[in-house]
Amino acid sequence: MMEKLKYEMLTPGFKCNQNCIHCCKKFSNKLENFSFKQIKNNLRNFNNNNGIAINGGEPSIRDDFLDIIELCKNYKKIILFTNGTGLNEYNIEKLASYKNLNIFISFNSYKEEIYNKIHRGSNSDYKKVVNNFKTLMSYEIKCYCRIIIHKLTKDYILDTFEFIKNINSNILLNLFYAAIIEEDSIWNNITCSFTELKPIIQECYNKFKHHISFLSIPFCINKDIIDLSSFDDYDISHNIKCKKCIYFGKCYGVQKKYLERFGDSELNPIY
Ligand code: SF4
Repeated sequence: MMEKLKYEMLTPGFKCNQNCIHCCKKFSNKLENFSFKQIKNNLRNFNNNNGIAINGGEPSIRDDFLDIIELCKNYKKIILFTNGTGLNEYNIEKLASYKNLNIFISFNSYKEEIYNKIHRGSNSDYKKVVNNFKTLMSYEIKCYCRIIIHKLTKDYILDTFEFIKNINSNILLNLFYAAIIEEDSIWNNITCSFTELKPIIQECYNKFKHHISFLSIPFCINKDIIDLSSFDDYDISHNIKCKKCIYFGKCYGVQKKYLERFGDSELNPIY
């Protein structure tokens, strides 16, 4: 099982320079960012014996991005979720001084035209992000390539991870099943069932097991990934079947939206 450290969630705001197809619309429709003062006030309620995860919107495009990281420096671990487009040589050099920092960069296809179709930002984003992976590694900053699995990404996952490993073999990989898409028309068009994804998840495990982690994929879909997994607790379901499972509480099950669409026939409690 992945490390048990608890994380405080810090959302500096919702502004983003991309408009990813799988984004939670509930967030992306709100365009405001919180002020630095509001962020500082939020941190007063947090426990810095925990880790802190900074999400968005896109934190790296804020003028006070580095000041926000500085505010978080005393947490056990800082996780920055970013699309990577706001990073540059200047801020990466500064980030290198935070030894507790881990950066998760959302990079959903090695094919530029597919990347652009999914991320829906500027046409220069793809090259910028690829270059930023290289720069981050030159400063030895721990970073992950995160792919959200759905119909548009699933056929490229293995090649994308391979592509990233060719940039630098020390970049880690993260595969995330996100049932967080708010817009039903998009949700219905792009989500896949776990059964459909099983072979890809297995191949990712077989090929990258020493470099990959999995997020929000139920253990009963693939028992191999149990030690490499963590869960997002967004809108989780306490499915009646899961309550009988020895992993209930560690594997949270699946999101309610998933069950509404695909039912619970794929869930097999482990005794
Ligand atoms: S039955 Fe539920 S708790 Fe058990 S592994 Fe499957 S999804 Fe997870």
